[in-house]
Amino acid sequence: MSPVFILGNDARRTRGRDAQSSNITAGKAVADAVRTTLGPRGMDKMLVDATGNVVVTNDGVTILEEMDVEHPAAKMLVDVARTQEDEVGDGTTTAAVLAGNLLARAEELLDSDVHPTTVVEGYAAARDIALDALSTLALDAELDDDLLARVAATSMTGKGTGDGSADRLADLVVAAVRHVADGDRVRRDDVRVHTLAGASAGATELVEGVLTEKSPVREDMPRDVSDATVAVLDAKLDTRETSASVEYNITSAGQLNAALDAEDAELREYARRLADAGVDVLFCTKKVDSRAAAYLADEDIATFANVKTSDATAIASATGAVALGDVRDIDPDDLGYAASVRVETYGDDDLTFVEGGRDAESVTLLVRGSTEHVAAELERALGDALDVVAVALDGDGVVPGAGCTEIVLADAIREGAPGIDGRAQLAAEAFADALDVLPRTLAENTGMDSIDALVDLRAANETGRAGIVTDGETGTLADPVEAGVLDPVAVKRDALESATEAATMVVRIDDIIAAN
Ligand code: ADP
Ligand code: MG
Repeated sequence: MSPVFILGNDARRTRGRDAQSSNITAGKAVADAVRTTLGPRGMDKMLVDATGNVVVTNDGVTILEEMDVEHPAAKMLVDVARTQEDEVGDGTTTAAVLAGNLLARAEELLDSDVHPTTVVEGYAAARDIALDALSTLALDAELDDDLLARVAATSMTGKGTGDGSADRLADLVVAAVRHVADGDRVRRDDVRVHTLAGASAGATELVEGVLTEKSPVREDMPRDVSDATVAVLDAKLDTRETSASVEYNITSAGQLNAALDAEDAELREYARRLADAGVDVLFCTKKVDSRAAAYLADEDIATFANVKTSDATAIASATGAVALGDVRDIDPDDLGYAASVRVETYGDDDLTFVEGGRDAESVTLLVRGSTEHVAAELERALGDALDVVAVALDGDGVVPGAGCTEIVLADAIREGAPGIDGRAQLAAEAFADALDVLPRTLAENTGMDSIDALVDLRAANETGRAGIVTDGETGTLADPVEAGVLDPVAVKRDALESATEAATMVVRIDDIIAAN
């Protein structure tokens, strides 16, 4: 009988242990790529893309996304970091390092003939023990501003805030989140971050409202409007004819003039209609015809052209305006309100602040950094800090950081492991070993002897509470709570869940069929 071919000619197929090994190696490589960036003394990476753009960062998910990973199993680990970023906003390095080490331990287990299904079972059991232990570790302290500021500062350490501005930034982050919180419900989307290079991080400020890096299209338009009726136009402000690019057949100067007059009248009409509707300020996401601008200036309407869509959306949601698709559709119901719209000059740039919007109490962190790179890294750091404060308030509080929680969880797993049947017990113990890698890495990155540090850390947590706390240059064994190193429960929980999920998914694969 002739063989049956079910795959295309070019398909490559890898099976059994070879398939597992290739996937595990790829996963471990991803974890190794971010390992040195973990913690306050973690190093930065410089990523250069094909067009020469440079990103300097310490942020796990940013590194993994910029790395252009090709291997499918490695991509699963990148997804772990991305999910972590989307769900809780921090702990991306932790999640990737944990997933990579779960894979490394799984390989050892597979080598000693533990079946993949048993590994999966043991990992799931260990994760459940860890999740239970995690909820008992949550501090029962009140989540006051001081404590939340410590949470914010913990997430920012090592991320471009080394110039002494960390405490102030942490306070601003807490103030921003408090501003948009109703009890423990946080409207995180109402906090925006806007970066502007050209000043040091210490000049970062919290603005009550939203802003756009634009000024009115003409000098003779108002630059400071209070009690403003606001319109947002998501289209260009131009004549109907030119927007449809109709060609005129002009045969005489008189005809040309008539055509121009008609256009003029149309533009004047738009300005009048906006004025009649009571509009004081117009934000337009596209260009505004210069003749239209002149008529708008006559009507005293401060007009902004080419406003970024994200800014326009934020302005609309803060002021309660509905973005118009066409200036002819103007309807009083679609107009928003702001207590003040005001232009201010920052160095070479004009910024317009929209404050006191009718609908949302939006706030903006105006992030300053000496250069674009510094400002961009600060923006990521502040984004993480806003997220952790929001999830700490919103979720289940905070746990001690600096590797303390991981050590205690690993311990809980080792204690519970004998209750797990058969060889899955070995896998649970391997899970505990994988967790140990996090405090060990923190120790390594601070230049401590990692084996000694781990032994001491375990001993210290038998009787009390300790982590590898870094203060400036050196790491020491100390109580993270006293040192103010705190991470949200939700960040640790998500890291445990998503790392386990990704690792077990990779372990289960024993057949790779790749189309060419
Ligand atoms: P991730 O992407 O996982 O958030 P980070 O590089 O932000 O990675 O490092 C997070 C870890 O660093 C957390 O476990 C946190 O508790 C720890 N950490 C933060 N600040 C300190 C500090 N001052 N001393 C020791 N550990 C710290
Ligand atoms: Mg972090």
